[in-house]
Amino acid sequence: MKYIGAHVSASGGVFNAPKNAHDLGATAFALFTKNQRRWEAKPLDEDSIKKFKAACKLYGYSAEQILPHDSYLINLGHPEVEPLEKSRLAFVDEMQRCQQLGLTLLNFHPGSHLKKIPVNDCLLRISESINWALERTENVKAVIENTAGQGTNLGYKFEQLATIIEHVEDKSRVGICLDTCHTFVSGYDLRTTQTCEDTFQAFSDIVGFEYLSAMHINDSKVPLGSRVDRHASLGVGEIGWPCFEYIMKDSRFDAIPMVLETSNPDIWADEIRQLQQWAK
Ligand SMILES: [Zn+2]
Ligand SMILES: [Zn+2]
Repeated sequence: MKYIGAHVSASGGVFNAPKNAHDLGATAFALFTKNQRRWEAKPLDEDSIKKFKAACKLYGYSAEQILPHDSYLINLGHPEVEPLEKSRLAFVDEMQRCQQLGLTLLNFHPGSHLKKIPVNDCLLRISESINWALERTENVKAVIENTAGQGTNLGYKFEQLATIIEHVEDKSRVGICLDTCHTFVSGYDLRTTQTCEDTFQAFSDIVGFEYLSAMHINDSKVPLGSRVDRHASLGVGEIGWPCFEYIMKDSRFDAIPMVLETSNPDIWADEIRQLQQWAK
């Protein structure tokens, strides 16, 4: 069973997201549980939580089909004490919001070294931040997204993801979200069945499919290895349709939320329909 959807709007309240996903014909969705560009957020009130849970039930979404994404401001590998602390507190808040909503996954970007600490120190700091957050929460898995490797963002190599996981104490509560665009622009080819075979074999060898907890399904506006994050609609970017067909027909990608963050929301319903046809 494949869960396929998109990152939908939660404007007006988190409880609007399930309906937005349903309108697209989606069987999965991603959302922000607060404004992703701000540190502060009002706590979720009882009424919103109730409405969110009711909407999920009405439209048939269970926790394993839903992938909340944390704020863009959080840097769990921050080289400085105060901003690191601020990030950790905000991350725990994000996890608690998921817990309140009955959600079990939280997708986040690992972190950036900002050219102030060595790569390995930053990776260890990210693991420590995850440990810190897991100790203060329950039932929510920290789902590390592989990045495009833009600027000083880490987590663009499978080895870096493996290092972060290696130092997380509770391995049952850490996972990976692979973004096809980020994978490709970090230098892992996905343009043909054979290159998909090779890239996912490398992921399997270095990280392991047991950690794969979600996918972001995006094409790329920029070429292989360019380390720039520019999503394209499926089939019109540098990756092309064969990769998405490959993923939809491969059982290693079953039972995890797979969400579009492609550049034209007007065609999300069509993109989802196409993917679902291959997934049957
Ligand atoms: Zn992301
Ligand atoms: Zn991206």
